[in-house]
Amino acid sequence: MSEDAEFGVTDACPFCDAGPEALYRRGPGFSKSQRSVDPDKDWYCRDCHQAFDDPTRRPRGHPGGFTEGSLAHQLDQADPSDLTPGDQR
Ligand SMILES: [Zn+2]
Repeated sequence: MSEDAEFGVTDACPFCDAGPEALYRRGPGFSKSQRSVDPDKDWYCRDCHQAFDDPTRRPRGHPGGFTEGSLAHQLDQADPSDLTPGDQR
């Protein structure tokens, strides 16, 4: 669980740009013997099957892809306190 993510910015795979839903963070309790790919890397992408130290940070959604004033744009610009918990997953 990473609640420290800045709203509007999301983690992405540095190899294929897959979103956080494709990323798997290997916790401290994750035995290295269970790591089949690059055991020293903390992150793993289920899309391209690459392991890496840190995910790329990128704006949520596609930069410039939202029409100004559209609901998507408003949500993209919204302050976290404006949103009710549970909307994010
Ligand atoms: Zn990937």
